[in-house]
Amino acid sequence: MSQTYDVIVVGAGVYGTTTALELHRRGRRVALIDPGPVPHPLASSTDISKVVRMEYGTDSEYMALVDEAISGWHEWNETFGEPLYHEIGVTMLTRQTMAPGGFEYESYIRLLERGRQPERLNSDEISRRFPAWRSGTYHDGFFHARAGFAESGRVVATLAQHARSNGIRVIEGMTVASVTTQRGVATGVATREGEAFSAAEVVVCAGAWTPWLLPELRAVMRPTGHPIFHLAPREPELFTAPNLVVFTADVANSGWYGFPMHPREGVVKIGNHGVGVALDPEVDERVVTAEDQLQLRDFLATALPDLVDAPVVYTRRCLYCDTLDEHLWIDRHPEIAGLTVAAGGSGHAFKMAPLLGGMIADAVEGHPNPRLARFRWRELADTTAGQEAARFHG
Ligand SMILES: Cc1cc2nc3c(=O)[nH]c(=O)nc-3n(C[C@H](O)[C@H](O)[C@H](O)COP(=O)(O)OP(=O)(O)OC[C@H]3O[C@@H](n4cnc5c(N)ncnc54)[C@H](O)[C@@H]3O)c2cc1C
Repeated sequence: MSQTYDVIVVGAGVYGTTTALELHRRGRRVALIDPGPVPHPLASSTDISKVVRMEYGTDSEYMALVDEAISGWHEWNETFGEPLYHEIGVTMLTRQTMAPGGFEYESYIRLLERGRQPERLNSDEISRRFPAWRSGTYHDGFFHARAGFAESGRVVATLAQHARSNGIRVIEGMTVASVTTQRGVATGVATREGEAFSAAEVVVCAGAWTPWLLPELRAVMRPTGHPIFHLAPREPELFTAPNLVVFTADVANSGWYGFPMHPREGVVKIGNHGVGVALDPEVDERVVTAEDQLQLRDFLATALPDLVDAPVVYTRRCLYCDTLDEHLWIDRHPEIAGLTVAAGGSGHAFKMAPLLGGMIADAVEGHPNPRLARFRWRELADTTAGQEAARFHG
């Protein structure tokens, strides 16, 4: 059975749903295909929360992008009539005094340059305002109010429902096996279920599965697994905003970050934004190991002592689609006309969701967009170092 569309979007995570909505808004007839259910349980976008922060060290380009995205998050809260984004602020804490070259120091300076008002914190201020932290562990840092978290899985569910109610065909239960081409031009997709769909444009937004669907990307894009933990504190009040807000704890040197009590789920989520483990998204198990749990307990013992023996009620190893330089990947395929690839979230793309659809649709339609320059199709040597400033690179 063949069904024809202007555009087929492969993958209904945050990249795919925002792209489908934007191309539909621009008058295209769009189908969105995902094995589902949407939000897919294994998708990176599917979780109770993702950090929304402007802080990117010396990288003013990402800071500007997220500053604009945060205005978009407020609009979405209005449009969808519920708090998908919670602007509770972020604390970025350091064990040593913040110094030039450090992620926190450079972020602080860039915020001031941008006219934002981060509030510097010393260890007394940290203990007074955020009493869950072990006194004396963190000596410096800042609180920034224009930040918080997005309920990521709920965001994708809301966007997908919005897509359906606006006439976008959201096809669940189908896995794209290949992009079909004729003489170097994309003509549609074929699914593992034996279906064929044709379209003038195909956009692959398959997250960590992207280099599996398009093997030519395996040299520059790799799925890596990262642990997250949900804990049930014995004293929830101590971990409820504003007593605790979204935080990074010397993140570029440790990877640790987290969230206060979730307003719906009633848990504290903690994750590690580190090197991760390479995983095959199709076959490898996504488990959090005893070693991961030990590292978590070590962190809590020195940082958040009242959580050190709190029960872990849920764990997950979630996949980043890592590009070698950790910049997003949004561009038309250089050898297949009519095919666009949008992936490479590298553990930090969700916060840009309100702008993703527009950027990806510009790439599909070939509209000049200066923001796409760093996300273009690019050669990356195997030795390329990751550049995301908040990430712990081991
Ligand atoms: C542990 C963890 C923590 C993170 N924390 C943050 C954070 O705090 N802040 C932040 O900004 N970002 C964060 N991120 C990054 C962010 O989640 C991702 O960059 C973003 O969600 C990627 O979205 P996506 O749409 O590319 O991929 P996904 O959400 O994974 O969606 C891909 C979709 O493609 C579908 N698919 C795959 N293969 C096929 C196929 N062959 N055919 C059809 N469909 C297919 C899948 O079912 C899936 O639904 C984190 C990521 C992880 C893993």
